[in-house]
This record gives sequence, C-alpha cells and structure tokens, in this order.
Amino acid sequence: MAAAPTIVWFRDDLRVADHPALSAAAERGAPVVALYVLDEGSPGVRPLGGAARWWLHGSLESLAADLDDLGVPLVLRRGAGADVVREVVDDAGADAVVWNRRYGAAREVDAGLKAGLADDGVDVRSFQASLLFEPWTIRTGQGTPYSVFTPFWRACREAPEPRHPLPVPGRLDGTRLDGDRLADWALLPTRPDWAGGLRETWTPGPAAARERLEEFAADAVQDYADGRDRMGDPVVSRLSPHLRFGELSPFEAWEAMRPKRSEGAARFRTELGWREFAWHVLYHFPDLATRNLRPEFDAFPWPRLHPTALEAWQRGRTGIPLVDAGMRELWRTGSMHNRVRMVTASFLVKHLLIDWRRGEQWFWDTLVDADEASNPFNWQWVAGSGADAAPYFRIFNPETQAAKFDADGAYRRRWLPDPDTDDSPEPIVDLAEGRREALAAYESVKVAAASARA
Ligand SMILES: Cc1cc2nc3c(=O)[nH]c(=O)nc-3n(C[C@H](O)[C@H](O)[C@H](O)COP(=O)(O)OP(=O)(O)OC[C@H]3O[C@@H](n4cnc5c(N)ncnc54)[C@H](O)[C@@H]3O)c2cc1C
Repeated sequence: MAAAPTIVWFRDDLRVADHPALSAAAERGAPVVALYVLDEGSPGVRPLGGAARWWLHGSLESLAADLDDLGVPLVLRRGAGADVVREVVDDAGADAVVWNRRYGAAREVDAGLKAGLADDGVDVRSFQASLLFEPWTIRTGQGTPYSVFTPFWRACREAPEPRHPLPVPGRLDGTRLDGDRLADWALLPTRPDWAGGLRETWTPGPAAARERLEEFAADAVQDYADGRDRMGDPVVSRLSPHLRFGELSPFEAWEAMRPKRSEGAARFRTELGWREFAWHVLYHFPDLATRNLRPEFDAFPWPRLHPTALEAWQRGRTGIPLVDAGMRELWRTGSMHNRVRMVTASFLVKHLLIDWRRGEQWFWDTLVDADEASNPFNWQWVAGSGADAAPYFRIFNPETQAAKFDADGAYRRRWLPDPDTDDSPEPIVDLAEGRREALAAYESVKVAAASARA
C-alpha cells in the first residue's frame, strides 16, 4: 500500500529554500501535498490590501514553478484555513500536516487545528522559519516582554545565534489534487489596471529576492549606514516585500551578513531586529492595528476628521512637497522610502490630526510590503502611542527633513508633477499652526491621563 501523504501548508513562507516544514516533509519520505489557501474569513487573518494581492499573484506563480521543479504540484484552495486543511487531509488520505509557525492573531487558528487533527491521529508539526528569535524565548529578567528596542535587541544578540539556512530539498514525490486556478482568484487589478508602476518597480519571487540580496551584500551594504536615510538615491536593500511574503527568510538575510564586519552590515542586522521587535510586539498585543498600546491615547481628541484632508494626503495633494512626493511614490510603486514614511505618517497624525488608524489602513492597502506587524507597529511608533515610540511632541517638520535628506531636491523632483504643467495645490495646513494644534491636543491627553490616575 502506498504511504499516506504529508501536507505542507504554505502561508507567508512562499519559497522552497530554507523551508523547515518542506524539509521535514521531505525527510518523512512519503508523498507530498503542497497547499496554499486563500483565507479571507478566519479570525485573525487580515484581508490583504490591493498592492499585496498583486504581489501575492506573482509570488504564487514563482512558488508553483519552484515546486514543479521538485516534482510537486501546488494545490490552491479558497476558504477558512483550518476547514480547508481538514478537507485536504480527507481528500488526500494524509496522515501528517506540517507548517511554519505564524505569530499574529491567526496563531489561534493553528493551535485549534493542531489539537483537532492530533485528536484524529494526524501527526502535526510546526517549525520556526519567519523570525530569527521566537517571541516566547526573548523575555526580560522579570519574564515580561520587552517594550524598548535597545534592551530587546541586546537580549536577542545574547540568545543563541540564528541557525544557518536549510538547503532546497531534492526531488520529491508530489501528489496532485483538485484545486482552483490562480487566475480565478482575480488578485491582479483589471478595470482599471493600476499596477503598471508596480510591474516597472518590482519582480516578485525568490529568484529576484536572492539576486537583490546578493547584490546588496556584495557591495552596497558598506554604505548602508550613511546611505539609507538619503531620499534621492538611497542605499537600501529593498527586500521588505520579499521578506513579507517569505520568499526570502530572515535567516538567509542574516547569513549573507555573517562574514561582513562593516558598520553597514551591523546596521542592516539591527534593521532586521526592528522587524523582529515589531513581530514580538504583535505576538503580545494581537490587536496592534486597532488599539493604542498606550491607553492614554484612547482619550486623544481627533478633532478634524476632515474627509478632504484625508483624501488630499492619500492622493499627494497636501501642498507640502515632501509629503506629496512620498504619497505619489507610494501610489505609483507600492513602496516608499523609510524616512519619507515617517514624515508622511507624522504629517497625517500631527499636522492634520487624523487618527493613525486611517493612515495605517491606507498604507495597508497600497504597500507591497504591507505587513501585519511592521505597519501598525511603525504607525504607533510615529503617533507616539506605541512601543518605544517617538515622543508625541517630536513632530517631524517636512521642510527640515527635506533640507537635510533631500538637499538637492532629487527625490521631490522625481515624484512631484512638473510645476509648469500641473497645478500645484496650496498647502492645506500651515506647518507652524498645525504643530501648535497638535501639541495642544497632546496636552489634553496628558491632562486626561493625569486625572484618570488621580
Ligand atoms: C509608517 C510606517 C509604516 C511602515 N510599514 C511597513 C510595512 O508594512 N512593512 C514593512 O516591511 N516595513 C514597514 N515599515 C518599515 C520600513 O519603512 C520598511 O521596512 C523599509 O522602508 C523597507 O525598505 P528596505 O527593504 O529597503 O529596508 P532596509 O533599510 O534595507 O532594511 C532591511 C529590512 O529590515 C526591515 N526593517 C527596516 N526598517 C524597519 C522598521 N522600521 N520596522 C520593521 N522592519 C524594518 C525590513 O524587513 C527591511 O526589508 C514602515 C515604516 C513606517 C515609518
């Protein structure tokens, strides 16, 4: 009798290299079912935004091709993840299911499924693949989670060094099952097709990710410490969407820096550390995208929920050149320079006094790297309501930031329309007045917090 198959449930780990669950399935020696579920209904699974859906399409095409080279067809199904996995266990007559762990609210789905399948005698195993350090292994001396980055990262660096990446398994015995056609999921925009700028800017898939990492590690990383903040011609890896979809694992990025001694390489590893920190915070606060980490911000008087101001910000028509350039870069390419993300986010929350959740949702919809942890974490960081956040009264001045990090104006010229051919909007807010109002609103939060304590 043929051996019962093993199901590998792919989620945000769309690769075949350094994939512990796939490697474990290979080791079992039984036939392999590779499954991806488009899950838009399970609790804790946040439906993808438009730009991320575009990316997912390309990523699944690459994964299907890479699995095909290993002799395994990729089975696509749609529905609530746990229900679909159970259905596939039945269809395939599988006796084992493996996956790489996830750390957001959806981990409850995984825990429930694991217990249920184990009761039915199915062998379920999960693996560490998407984080260098798992959240329950990094704790303060008192056993609590860290709320400040520097001691968090020190504790990570004192923990055992991240493992070496695993190789791609050899040829496998794949199992074919009925499934959906990728095209039927309609992940790509059609009417209108707004993805032209995304196609020009990005190539989803592990091959492009690996090429980017190799190029960056070979040379650019040396200048990363100084070059990362430059807006016009930044020295950055541009790996975030690849890491987001797990086309590249953080262990592979870490490994590429292992032989390097430069300040740039150390700084790059620290940025991977910020990604870890965001995920650890999400693990401990699963509603990070909707709830202020610092509850005193619940009393914040968001006074001007002005639809035209929100729309002007979204469309890059605030009349503040650096803000508009950033928002147009985002709309066109599905990405934005890190420092400009900080400036545009700060402008929305502080100068326009619009709730950070509105901005977070816009970024969620428009970023190709929109990440369940990093996006809300960084928005709360900018708003002042988050972990180790910038204090609220530190208000980025877009003009000063532009003078410092886009001194020759190259970034703004690249993204702003030509002033001779396009009407440039007048500033929708006076920067100095906006700053004064933001500080006054913050004072009222402090007063509310003090009276709550009294
Ligand atoms: C308001 C706001 C929202 C953001 N939303 C996201 C998001 O949804 N997804 C996302 O991946 N990043 C987000 N970031 C963080 C950061 O801007 C991007 O990770 C970075 O610009 C990606 O470019 P890169 O890959 O060239 O980064 P590099 O500078 O080359 O950094 C290497 C990697 O480190 C990680 N990293 C760097 N900075 C941060 C950070 N501040 N927080 C968490 N991880 C970091 C990323 O995985 C990145 O790919 C946000 C930042 C802000 C201020």
